[in-house]
Amino acid sequence: MAIEARCALAAVDFSVSEAGAIWRPASARASGSAPGRITLPAMTDAVLLGMPTRKPPRVASRAGRSYFVRTYGCQMNEHDSERISGLLESDGMVAADSAIEADVVVLNTCTIRENADQALYGYLGSLKAEKVNRPGMQILVGGCMAQRDRDVILNRAAWVDVVFGTHNTHRVLDLLDHSEEWGPVAEVWDETTSVEDMPSMLPANRDSEHSAWVTITIGCNNSCTFCIVPMVRGREISRRPGDVIGEVTRLANDGVVEVTLLGQNVNSYGRDLDVNGRSPIFADLLRRVGEVDGIRRIRYTSPHPKDFREDVALAMAETEAVCEQLHLPLQSGSTSILAAMHRGYNGTRFLEKLAMARDIIPDLAVSTDIIVGFPGETDQDFQDTLDVVAAAQFDSAFTFQFSPRPGTPAAEMEGHVDRDVIQERFNRLIELQNRITFDKNRLQVGRAEEVLVEGPSKKNPDVVTARTRGNRPVHVDGHFDAGTFMMVEVERAAPHHLHGRAL
Ligand code: SF4
Repeated sequence: MAIEARCALAAVDFSVSEAGAIWRPASARASGSAPGRITLPAMTDAVLLGMPTRKPPRVASRAGRSYFVRTYGCQMNEHDSERISGLLESDGMVAADSAIEADVVVLNTCTIRENADQALYGYLGSLKAEKVNRPGMQILVGGCMAQRDRDVILNRAAWVDVVFGTHNTHRVLDLLDHSEEWGPVAEVWDETTSVEDMPSMLPANRDSEHSAWVTITIGCNNSCTFCIVPMVRGREISRRPGDVIGEVTRLANDGVVEVTLLGQNVNSYGRDLDVNGRSPIFADLLRRVGEVDGIRRIRYTSPHPKDFREDVALAMAETEAVCEQLHLPLQSGSTSILAAMHRGYNGTRFLEKLAMARDIIPDLAVSTDIIVGFPGETDQDFQDTLDVVAAAQFDSAFTFQFSPRPGTPAAEMEGHVDRDVIQERFNRLIELQNRITFDKNRLQVGRAEEVLVEGPSKKNPDVVTARTRGNRPVHVDGHFDAGTFMMVEVERAAPHHLHGRAL
């Protein structure tokens, strides 16, 4: 059955792709003709057609081959890359130090950054030359840009072997098999069809032995007009609490002491679930994760300010392992810009939520995201942002200059702000926030803080970089193993880090 279906796929040149799946037969590859395409109304049909699946478990078949994963973008992508690496290693592959040494190169793409397309195709161009020298090399492109652009990548870079989206990461090995047998292939699913298909359910090869990300939701049901995530990651799906706790427990048994719970909007966790007749809530999940033996630090990202409520702040304050750290993305301080962004709050409401959190959680460190120059932003709108930033006194901020992302509503809006104006506003914002961050760092001097060592400093091997519970980086003289907890006295403050002495 499977072989017959594969033969059919290789021989027939269909058109249209409802489910976003595009199959390019080997014959098309050899002749350089346009990709062959087949309509796949649903993935169950794909399975019926005999496409290879991940079940039953396969025998590792690429022992000794090497791989390299290059990740663009956010923590969610970093986490997905750990899963992709884990999958490749489950097939016998070993990590290479660079793309030019690797048999299989995976690019896990992002659409958030400006000029992401140029960066991707530029890099693919350099890999093309490498592939000419080593025809056995395989190149895979996955992640958000692959999800959005579907067939474009194979059309623009015919030397790519596999294109896969954000919803079918688990099919990487099957798609590699397919490309070896039939030539380049693109398979992009429109949605994640079951919790089992989440990247979190795959084996992982983590970068850190003591710290791990744990996905609790994928996708997003919001519609922030600057954001591509709802389009490329789909509707929100929550993992069941038992799955999350099971993963955290396994991680703790493996020596992990710090977990970061990941979701596009963690505060809406569980709304799509029914556990014993009710929807679990994020506050309860935090408390349950806090009960796992061995986990000494819990962080999470990101909450949406409109959904951030007192129950979560209370759970943070009452769960010892949850760090006193909150990333609360402001984006703008202007009421009209926030409305145009579809954010569901205004500056006043944001500050009220922040005050509530700080009242409940002593010593809370707060970071944020801010976009400068959203379409229609006037001088007064920007001044409103500066006012909220001054009032909020964030410990740190990730600041961005607006640039239109194809496919987002904001890209189509009128009133785009001149680049020079954006730059000038951006500089003023950075100056203000840098001042606040430095002032806040100075307040730490003289304090005794528990830090978790991350590893040697990149600039000085005789110094380690560590983090406080508030997520402030601290440099400490000496040689301490990654994963070590220790107390330090903060001796000096720098604009973006602290210097501490081991106690
Ligand atoms: S909450 Fe808004 S910014 Fe965050 S992922 Fe969803 S749509 Fe994007």
